[in-house]
Amino acid sequence: MTDVMAWIGLGSNLDDPARQVNTALAELDRLPQSRLLACSGLYRSAPMGPQDQPDYINAVAGLATALPAGALLDALQAIEQAHRRVRGEHWGPRTLDLDILLYGEDRINTPDLKVPHPGMAERNFVLAPLVEVAPQLTVPGLGDIQALCDAVSDNGLERVGDVEWHPATPDVDRNN
Ligand code: ADP
Ligand code: MG
Repeated sequence: MTDVMAWIGLGSNLDDPARQVNTALAELDRLPQSRLLACSGLYRSAPMGPQDQPDYINAVAGLATALPAGALLDALQAIEQAHRRVRGEHWGPRTLDLDILLYGEDRINTPDLKVPHPGMAERNFVLAPLVEVAPQLTVPGLGDIQALCDAVSDNGLERVGDVEWHPATPDVDRNN
């Protein structure tokens, strides 16, 4: 089994967003053949699109996984559903949004899955947390994460706290 490092973007702006994100992190760590290895702090960002909705809480997480990218997307959508996400208007409010930002160095372009995530170069709420946890990261086709982050306006983005997750000490008994 070869693990790939997948970077997941988390966002919520409904129903106690920080709790939604913290709960989702624990759920990511419990996915089959997967282990959460890194996590940014929590960031507050202004909504994209419709402005008559609350600010978002965002974070990014690094998941070492043996799941193929399509299976990982399915698993993320199942977690979104469990958070009772109701798909409403485009870019409208949501209890939980989970995006695959990066899947190793792969570039994927299928109808259901585009990686690197097509919006990431414009999204400070993805770039700033990635710089926090993985400053050496290179985005396939786009380059150095720090340079990408420097190129976008911060638009009021603010780091508002730490996540509840902490890296586990290595556990040889865990076999997923
Ligand atoms: P957004 O995250 O752009 O605000 P949605 O979460 O509603 O919007 O979009 C979900 C759709 O985006 C899914 O049906 C999924 O197939 C598609 N999609 C394409 N690429 C990705 C990706 N890298 N990560 C997550 N979803 C993706
Ligand atoms: Mg999404």
